[in-house]
Amino acid sequence: MKITIGRKDYDRIVEYALKERPNEACGLIAGTDRDDGIREIKKVYLLTNIDHTNEHFSIDPREQLRSIKDMRANGLTPLGNWHSHPESPSRPSEEDKRLANDSSASYLILSLENEDEPVLNAFHVEGEQGQRSVRKEELIIKEEE
Ligand SMILES: [Zn+2]
Repeated sequence: MKITIGRKDYDRIVEYALKERPNEACGLIAGTDRDDGIREIKKVYLLTNIDHTNEHFSIDPREQLRSIKDMRANGLTPLGNWHSHPESPSRPSEEDKRLANDSSASYLILSLENEDEPVLNAFHVEGEQGQRSVRKEELIIKEEE
């Protein structure tokens, strides 16, 4: 499975995540699941991590609700979420796997371990609690037309 994100949206995520350090930053992604199997991110939401720590995140529930309403109003499908790892690599932690309850969602993780070279990866998390498996998606950053 492939997932695409526009350069502008990618840059917004990186900029926001850098600003939120040392804490994890988080948000939602929305767009369309195309007939050719490509998942296209059309809008990213930069939301508040109410945990305010560098180890995990919880999206502000009111902002989450507002974002879902905005997606509906704009005909966008909720595709999953994104969060940053200020000091660790771009792969799901045990905690991330535990909380990844939607096997159809794309989970994007931005690593700022090396701040000059942010790394964004997308994952699917499947299986029952305690035996979850992680599959990496091919993420394509699209240069804007
Ligand atoms: Zn994480």
